[in-house]
Amino acid sequence: MLEVRQLVKDYRKTRAVDEVSFVVAPGEIVGLLGPNGAGKTTALRCIAGILKPTAGQVLINGFDIVEDQARAKAGLAFVPEVPGLYDLLTVDEHLRFVAMCFDKLDVYDAEKETLLERYNLLEKRNELVATLSKGMKQKLAVACALVHDANVMLLDEPMIGIDPAGAHELKMELARARDAGAAVLVSTHLLDTAEKLCDRVIILARGKKLTEGTLAELRDRSQMTDASLEDLFLSLTQDREPTNDP
Ligand code: ATP
Repeated sequence: MLEVRQLVKDYRKTRAVDEVSFVVAPGEIVGLLGPNGAGKTTALRCIAGILKPTAGQVLINGFDIVEDQARAKAGLAFVPEVPGLYDLLTVDEHLRFVAMCFDKLDVYDAEKETLLERYNLLEKRNELVATLSKGMKQKLAVACALVHDANVMLLDEPMIGIDPAGAHELKMELARARDAGAAVLVSTHLLDTAEKLCDRVIILARGKKLTEGTLAELRDRSQMTDASLEDLFLSLTQDREPTNDP
């Protein structure tokens, strides 16, 4: 379970995230949407404990990401937009290292063939991370999140740079994680993907939460029956000032 309460993040003069609150419950995939500069990455980095919030609180499975970081991070996986990987480890060493950090080495050793094959990393298992293509690095970053077996998963633009087969596999993985009870928050500009993959969406604009809900709820609120998520997104982000109302 992920709870974000009145989250604020300022960079000098810019308020990048402005009193944003939401919950991602176990067993749902929530899309974090918004135009460029809306505050998606900043919010995700605060939730992941990489940036310290200016105000507000983030709870991962009930543990505060600032006050109780170790316990909060034990259940958390974060796949950043640009994966931070260790270039001088091989693919296999990298995954083993992450599995060891989270005390999941037994699980990794039992399932690594399947995991490596699923991400087309089997033939690269003994190659250095530095030699992987951008898309392969992205796949490795996602595989690291899955090795860890987190129940709160954060992904920042995970489909960028992945080939269609890899993107398809990633969507299946996220759906599997959701069905196994994970709370998944994924930022994306791919509205078709969000419409199919996400149970709900949150739309940010200029740091504030503009709206939140299922596609049906967004259609009802906008009185746009049969509108696609893209239609709703464009209408909402172009026509309205943000509020913190759902
Ligand atoms: P995009 O879709 O373009 O990736 P985003 O929704 O992820 O955008 P953020 O990257 O979180 O948005 O940026 C939110 C705001 O914070 C923007 O106004 C941006 O210029 C500002 N910002 C982001 N990072 C920094 C930083 N390190 N220093 C100062 N301002 C920043």
